[in-house]
Amino acid sequence: MQKYGGTSVAEPSRIREVADHIVRTRAEGHDVVVVVSAMGGTTDDLVALAHDVSPVPHAREYDMLLTAGERISIALLCMAILDRDVPAVSFTGSQAGIVTDTSHGRARIVDIHAERIEESLRDGSVVVVAGFQGVSTSRDITTLGRGGSDTTAVALAASLGAEVAEIYTDVAGVFTADPRVVPVARRLERVSYEEMLDMAATGSRVLALRSVEVARNHDVKIHVRSSFTWEPGTWVTKEDPTMEQAIISGVTHDLSEAKITIAGVPDRPGIAATVFRSLADAQVIVDMIEQNVSSGGVTDISFTVPREALPGARRVMTEVMKEVGATGVDDNESIARVSIVGAGMKTNPGVAAKMFETLAAEGVNIEMISTSSIRTSCVVAESDAHRAVRALHAAFDLGSDTGGSETGGSETGGSDASSEERASG
Ligand code: ADP
Ligand code: ASP
Ligand code: MG
Repeated sequence: MQKYGGTSVAEPSRIREVADHIVRTRAEGHDVVVVVSAMGGTTDDLVALAHDVSPVPHAREYDMLLTAGERISIALLCMAILDRDVPAVSFTGSQAGIVTDTSHGRARIVDIHAERIEESLRDGSVVVVAGFQGVSTSRDITTLGRGGSDTTAVALAASLGAEVAEIYTDVAGVFTADPRVVPVARRLERVSYEEMLDMAATGSRVLALRSVEVARNHDVKIHVRSSFTWEPGTWVTKEDPTMEQAIISGVTHDLSEAKITIAGVPDRPGIAATVFRSLADAQVIVDMIEQNVSSGGVTDISFTVPREALPGARRVMTEVMKEVGATGVDDNESIARVSIVGAGMKTNPGVAAKMFETLAAEGVNIEMISTSSIRTSCVVAESDAHRAVRALHAAFDLGSDTGGSETGGSETGGSDASSEERASG
């Protein structure tokens, strides 16, 4: 199983190079199933187009539109493979037998009927499947959420019993921090499912969170590697109990959330329940939550939501404010979540303290804190994010002398958080 992300197939020349690599792999004696993303920037363009036509695009039609990007790349990639005299066939998610639930825009794979893929493999074809999409139990076209091609690849690898899910991307593996932000970030040889889950959940988009969950649940080995240099990358596998664990394996950051504070809420049972039930009923996903100590019988509750959910959350909170008798609601989009992740945190005291000291020494104010057994996260101002990541990376001694990736790292390393947008697939 090989998956190619948007930048890996962004140009005709890239598609031909990818075809060459697929043909090489097959010549080594492997059956090859490929999952491909839309050409870099395509999905973003389709998103913009939809919002240009309709302020709130209809969910079913929005998914129908977004899946078009992958339909283009599977056909082009197959043409290139066929030109190399190797049989190849492209399938949409639906043709590949990927069945999902009915949640448009964030559908979950519930079943895979892989017979058609298996038949084509038996006939000697390379099979190229459109990433990030499926057909729902009520027969509509669905998408799995941004970055979802990783999930398609790992789920298919599990279903087909593939040797490995190779995730080809534009960096040489999983690094100790985003190599575009920390030029001296170091590539990890291997990382456990648990660590990768926390890294993915806190903003390291090199693997989609769901793909790591599926890999852990079905024991699929993932190999994240570069489609530009083809060198070996990072293995994501089960934790190896015989190996000494790094205290911190990575520093991550996430600029996709916004913070809401509801002020002056009465400090009595049932208030938090009302607030978060209303948000859940409006389908708003809440991430970090913090409630201050009360003074004078009132308290503040702060929480984070995805930025795109902010308008909806704001509407809900205005209603809730009246219902619970709070004095105000405030929100802030210019926040970032900075996290340190590492299995060794379980057994090493003082890691969180060192994180807070490092941020203090940098003059970075911490607005919220959350922890799990192998992660500590702080919400800081967005404008402080990259500086905070670099300081933490240095404080925990994660760097290499030679520098991080061969692509990008140093040229964009000094940029600020607001210039982070890049074209994905
Ligand atoms: P693809 O289009 O191949 O799916 P993505 O853009 O989704 O690629 O993911 C790759 C990007 O993830 C890299 O270009 C890098 O900037 C970013 N990234 C963030 N954190 C990390 C990390 N810890 N290690 C490697 N890459 C990271
Ligand atoms: N093309 C989709 C996106 O840009 C899916 C993916 O690339 O994984 O989110
Ligand atoms: Mg991706």
